[in-house]
Amino acid sequence: MDHQIPSLYHLRCPNCGSGEYTPLGKKRNLAQQVAVGFAAGAAPLLATVVANAQARDLTEIPPLEYKCAGCKKKYQSGPLAADPSEILAEPCVVNFTRAKKFQGAAGVYTIYLNGVPINTVRNGQSFAFQTILRYNTLFAGFGNGMLYRVLHRFEAVPGRTIGVVFDGVFRPLP
Ligand SMILES: [Zn+2]
Repeated sequence: MDHQIPSLYHLRCPNCGSGEYTPLGKKRNLAQQVAVGFAAGAAPLLATVVANAQARDLTEIPPLEYKCAGCKKKYQSGPLAADPSEILAEPCVVNFTRAKKFQGAAGVYTIYLNGVPINTVRNGQSFAFQTILRYNTLFAGFGNGMLYRVLHRFEAVPGRTIGVVFDGVFRPLP
């Protein structure tokens, strides 16, 4: 099977072509599959760096459901294959922190990079991950496969380290 770098940069609504959306998460019948898939491929909690720069078999990554901001229709998609022009000469490291306390902060969250679950975090925990793509999208999800209806798009810088904090919304760290 072909291995490619997962990307959401060119994700578009199949109905109207809009690239703006609200992430919803797995449809209920897919949630279990996602949990299993993540457990099998999960990096250890608080790993110094979660290597996410590798190419993957995209057909093995469960699709997520999105609500289009344009036509309001829902659609599902897995990550797309990154175009070579999206790939950096060297990876960027992202230090991710889940803020200690905020409304509804109980439980373990799953963090998704470009549509792929990469790690889980509890209150106040941090981890670092790499991305090899210039244009990146982060989601945060609950244990049942549903997502916070917020996303964070950021442009990675090759060879540099950047920071992101999540406290209900994502915020870039200076
Ligand atoms: Zn649409």
